[in-house]
Amino acid sequence: MDFNFTNLSAKPSGETRHVKVLILGSGPAGLAAALYAARADLAPVVLTGMSLGGQVSLTHMVENYPGFPSGVGGQELVDLFQKQAERFGARVEFDTASEVDLSRRPYRVSTYNGEYLADTLIITTGATPIHLNIPGETEFTGRGVSYCATCDGWFFKDKDVVVVGGGDSALEEALFLTRYAKSITIVHRRDSLRAGAILQKRAIEEPKIKFIWDTVVTKVAGDEAVRSLWIKNIKTGAEQELPTDGLFIFIGHHPNTELFAGQLEMDGRGYLRTDVTMHTSVPGVFVAGEAGDPHYRQVITSAGMGAAAAMQAIRFIEELEAEEAHA
Ligand code: NAP
Repeated sequence: MDFNFTNLSAKPSGETRHVKVLILGSGPAGLAAALYAARADLAPVVLTGMSLGGQVSLTHMVENYPGFPSGVGGQELVDLFQKQAERFGARVEFDTASEVDLSRRPYRVSTYNGEYLADTLIITTGATPIHLNIPGETEFTGRGVSYCATCDGWFFKDKDVVVVGGGDSALEEALFLTRYAKSITIVHRRDSLRAGAILQKRAIEEPKIKFIWDTVVTKVAGDEAVRSLWIKNIKTGAEQELPTDGLFIFIGHHPNTELFAGQLEMDGRGYLRTDVTMHTSVPGVFVAGEAGDPHYRQVITSAGMGAAAAMQAIRFIEELEAEEAHA
């Protein structure tokens, strides 16, 4: 991966730093928030989390982010976001929050490398792929089972692979896999797709892609690598073994919000509740991107939410400073 780690820094263990704006997560939402907060001269700190750039950095090509008529590589876009935010004074730290205390301000955030006190917090921790939770799935992850075609597609040159899911992700990734795989079989639990019309048309017209409808995968089998799947037609109940070299699973995501359980209001699926100003249930704590967005999940919407959250954080700090000046 072509990440730019040159400006990443790790703090010595045990150090506590007070910052005006702390951003948790370095996807489009986090880096857009950093850009806006940095341009307001607030010297925001971005904690990258486990991977700089989040999910988009694993996307081969982004074709729907305005300003790039020929598309832009996911990693390249993250790199550009990072450079732009840093140009105005944002600091991107290769560190992950492990504990937060939102009971009083400044908010305390413990990380792997130290601790922060933050006047405002912008949560952009994103989301993680959902697993099928079937026998063999965990055992064969990395040995034929994958959640990222961009990362693992190359290993399936001239092989037969199965993709599970009927949404935009499943079709987009299946189309990407046509670069490598000999055949791609999309196994979908219904007889119609959830994906948008353009992707549906492309996938249906692609000779390497075929569909198995009304069917779920119930088991992954193999030896040192995946050799076959067990699939079941949910209308007839008929089960059969389907030989394959790989299984790519794209059935949605769950938000990375466990860190805030009991401290911030969430919906039943764990998405952080927010008002129209990106405010969570705690004053001065904002959310942007997929940690609070089960609907749009686009680079542009996440980046837009990040900008909005930063604008609100800027306003919050201004009001705080005005109150303190009058106290
Ligand atoms: P999604 O739209 O929620 O689709 C998930 C798919 O997985 C659905 O087809 C669903 O089936 C299936 N599924 C869910 N649980 C399953 C299970 N246990 N077993 C088998 N199948 C299961 O998720 P997504 O494709 O990741 O997309 C999420 C959002 O990101 C969407 O809003 C999408 O538009 C957006 N997105 C956009 C783009 C783009 O614009 N280029 C690319 C990727 C994602 P059912 O259809 O039966 O529910």
